[in-house]
Amino acid sequence: MGRPITSKMCVKCAGCCSNFPFVVLSTDEIGALSEFTGLGADAFSDSDRKSSPRHFLKHQKSGSCVFLREAAGNYACSVYEARPSVCRSYPFTPVQHKVCEERFDKVSS
Ligand code: SF4
Repeated sequence: MGRPITSKMCVKCAGCCSNFPFVVLSTDEIGALSEFTGLGADAFSDSDRKSSPRHFLKHQKSGSCVFLREAAGNYACSVYEARPSVCRSYPFTPVQHKVCEERFDKVSS
């Protein structure tokens, strides 16, 4: 991997939050999001498997995360302060890291 990706390098392309991202949620994170938004967990999370279910964020019809907002081509997380750890640690694969780096370089060149 190259240089560390910082929030200052984010070009707000929403690549990380669109195309049906699989964002796993812990019980604590569900509680934090409920508290932050005032919504019940069913409004923003889903689960799979009957035994030992995993909980994850729902998507909009477009495939974007339920919490992604767009205004005039600018994307933002509407729960940024309470976003789950998966989102906080993004990018976490070499491919994701490369995409972020290339998009930043393209905008800043
Ligand atoms: S919670 Fe926020 S940062 Fe995480 S995927 Fe949704 S919009 Fe993106």
